[in-house]
Amino acid sequence: LLRLCMPIHVVNCQNSKSFDSSSVLESLRLDNDKLRQMMQLLEQEMEAGLSPATHKKADVKMFPTYVRNIANGSETGQVLALDLGGTNFRVLLVNLLPHSEVELTSKIFVIPQSIMLGEGVNLFRHLADCLLDFMKKENLIQPGVRYPLGFTFSFPCQQEGLASARLSSWTKGFTCSGVVNEDVVKMLQKAIDEKNISVQCVALINDTVGTLMACAYKNPTTAIGLILGTGTNACYTESLDRIGTWNGDYNEPKQVIVNMEWGAFGNNGRLNYLRTKYDEEVDLSSVNPGKQIFEKMISGMYMGEIVRLIILDLMQQDLLFIGQRDHYGDYKTPLFTRGGFYTKFVSTVETDVGIAFANTRRVLQDVGIRNPTFDDCAIVQHICKNVSKRASRLAGGGLAVLINRINKPNITVGVDGSVYRYHPRFKRNMEKCMKLLVNKNIKFDLQLSNDGSGVGAALSVAAEVLSTQNPKE
Ligand code: BGC
Ligand code: MG
Repeated sequence: LLRLCMPIHVVNCQNSKSFDSSSVLESLRLDNDKLRQMMQLLEQEMEAGLSPATHKKADVKMFPTYVRNIANGSETGQVLALDLGGTNFRVLLVNLLPHSEVELTSKIFVIPQSIMLGEGVNLFRHLADCLLDFMKKENLIQPGVRYPLGFTFSFPCQQEGLASARLSSWTKGFTCSGVVNEDVVKMLQKAIDEKNISVQCVALINDTVGTLMACAYKNPTTAIGLILGTGTNACYTESLDRIGTWNGDYNEPKQVIVNMEWGAFGNNGRLNYLRTKYDEEVDLSSVNPGKQIFEKMISGMYMGEIVRLIILDLMQQDLLFIGQRDHYGDYKTPLFTRGGFYTKFVSTVETDVGIAFANTRRVLQDVGIRNPTFDDCAIVQHICKNVSKRASRLAGGGLAVLINRINKPNITVGVDGSVYRYHPRFKRNMEKCMKLLVNKNIKFDLQLSNDGSGVGAALSVAAEVLSTQNPKE
């Protein structure tokens, strides 16, 4: 039995056909050489995004954000925030108290598929409706009170200021018409004004920026924000003199947060050397084929689907669920449906230790496999481990590039997102490969940034309001 659990070679005894991971899953393996090559490529793509000569054509956009004052814990006040861009949409009331204390009230709203794929104006009307609903419930509609609002909008935006951002493209399943190239803050404000809500949007930020800000509020060595959730992306503080595309002033602090939009890394084909046929399939069946290639190998919107495609492939080769055809039913089971194997199943499967595979069996039942054998379970877990490990190494390699570039003795990375939070091994696997790839003179630390995307928006608002109240000397 122990031999069967060995990750390298799982033997299926039912028909003694051997399941050789090195041939079936060979393509998923990302050795250190491939990873180092990926890091070099990323560095080149970053330079292309930062240089005015190549920015337009670059995949990794490296958008300067206009967030220059990193929160330091001194910010106080009551701020509203909207958080759009993951699985849920949230409205928040954030109360920033002295000593980096935060009080938070929030409500989750669903964005129906019809709105995600419909007209942009309706999306923003929906956001304004939810905001109004929340304000009524929280008793925030008071004569003469106008609230400042921070908008966490987690999509690639070209910013012209803190409260001005043009959407460059949708990601993560959104395709609303009439928004690309438009100023998202204007569209939101218009919808808010139409409903006579006394709220002013004063800042738009990316969720990575919110995550960095929320972490920096408690820990001053924070220089990077990372999201591993529905999508993936990172931001970091960059010196102005390294940003050729910067067209703001050069006053102190001579730095700004750069939103990398690293999810688009590889759109030009440069990652094809490490992509698999499963990655291609995931990409082709998505709403944005050819886009967000790096993201599609890492984030929660796609990880479960990669696993599902591998399972189907092995079934087709008669290497998995052998002799159980009768149980598949009429192919309407989740396993045969796109998106039917949720990314949270990957986490669940990987929490099994030992040979009982209780969780794995439960997951397999949920997707329509009623009587998996021990070997079936071992193989499915093996697939999950390989897919999530590859994702964690890609993200870890990306982080190592940033950490080596920032090159300070102590660097804290604020991290948030469902994959990072709920996967039992993701953080550990990332750290393991980063230890190898980060320069030895640097100490790094991955910190879970609680509620970063909501709190961070409030912090950028507070930092902005404070800095306009006490103009810089
Ligand atoms: C978006 C980024 C975002 C990331 C994580 C990506 O799809 O393009 O803006 O930060 O998802 O939410
Ligand atoms: Mg989020």
